[in-house]
Amino acid sequence: MLTNKELFEQAKLCIPGGVNSPVRSFNSVGGTPFFTARAEGSSLFDIEGKEYIDYVCSWGANIVGHANKTVIARVTEALANGFSYGTPTELEVVFAKKICELVPSIDKFRLVSSGTEAVMSAIRLARGYTRRNYIIKFNGCYHGHSDSLLIKAGSGLQTFGNPSSSGVPEEAVRHTLVLEYNDTEQLVEAFRVYPEAIAAVVIEPFAGNMNLVRPTSEFIQQLRELCTKNGTVLVFDEVMTGFRVALGGAQQLLGIKPDLTTVGKVIGGGMPLAGFGGKAEIMDCLAPIGGVYQAGTLSGNPVAVTAGLAVLDLIQQQDFYLRLANSASLLMDGLKKIANEEGISLSVDSVGGMFGFYFSDRVPQSFAEVKEGNQELFNRFFHLMLDRGVFFAPSMYEAGFISAVHDSRVIDKTLAIARDVFKILYT
Ligand code: PLP
Repeated sequence: MLTNKELFEQAKLCIPGGVNSPVRSFNSVGGTPFFTARAEGSSLFDIEGKEYIDYVCSWGANIVGHANKTVIARVTEALANGFSYGTPTELEVVFAKKICELVPSIDKFRLVSSGTEAVMSAIRLARGYTRRNYIIKFNGCYHGHSDSLLIKAGSGLQTFGNPSSSGVPEEAVRHTLVLEYNDTEQLVEAFRVYPEAIAAVVIEPFAGNMNLVRPTSEFIQQLRELCTKNGTVLVFDEVMTGFRVALGGAQQLLGIKPDLTTVGKVIGGGMPLAGFGGKAEIMDCLAPIGGVYQAGTLSGNPVAVTAGLAVLDLIQQQDFYLRLANSASLLMDGLKKIANEEGISLSVDSVGGMFGFYFSDRVPQSFAEVKEGNQELFNRFFHLMLDRGVFFAPSMYEAGFISAVHDSRVIDKTLAIARDVFKILYT
């Protein structure tokens, strides 16, 4: 039997960096990633047979618990009917109807296979609809790896940002403005400097890619008003928050209706499924009825849609989100209490089944404030917890996730381990 270390060495010989998505490599925290052999309920099991309580939950996709029996049964049944047809299916219609019913801002919905595709398509659609080129994104938000969104902030509104990845031409980000999250003044200024030029503002309505950061109500309301006033399409990227923070997503909790919404992760229950939707008037600009081209061989894949439908059924159970939110606050409040008892500065926050903890004395409101957290302490905490069988996201810039089967027994066990870890964190 191979150890994680041995397999990682082999992986690096045939997969760049040994992983198929960079954050999995533990670059930020150091050390060797473990290789998962199987998952069940709230746990992952690695190839050495070690069990981990999983607070990454496939980066938010898993909300009903790993290897949920209901989902497995429905997927198994679907598999027997074939995996992909290249024709429309009734399942897709049922799925789209359900999404439109659960998210009132969505009149029409289209399926794709990843969050990246969903946001990339929504941006193209907003540009086609408005016949404008500029888009605004916020520092610290991640919207997948399409070219125009891989951008580092410049030093002010008049200086443009640079691509954050090599291979992205400067021209590809020339029309992307990067502003600070929760900075209303900057937003007002951007609309003043670029009147009638901004096609879309894309935002994570609760940011989860710079740890968890909430919008202030003033900021998010102004954002909605400015978009409406300027004829700009407001895109809520709910790939992470959709069906994760509430049944109606972040927009339900914030009481704001975006023009377009992107979803992913939870809606596929771990299968490659994502989508985007919104106002009919905008969605009808898509091919084949409109001029904005967008397509996909595997879009609406019947097996993935079946998994998604099974998850959508489960999350509509009575008090599902109430229980999820209670578990997340139980975990976060407990973590803060025991850290503070050991004299360690720790702040916490949670929304529905998503949480953040920060080695800092305040909950951050921007990427700059997240960066003030103590990275060294986080990295040490991460490894000490991992050694004892608790898997938090391997970067202090990622939010955490729980599923419906992370019950009080699992959380108590986590907190007992955390108590031991906080005692030795400084040694
Ligand atoms: N948008 C947000 C908010 C995300 O968190 C992610 C992925 O983490 C994406 C888009 C990209 O999704 P995918 O990794 O499925 O392409």
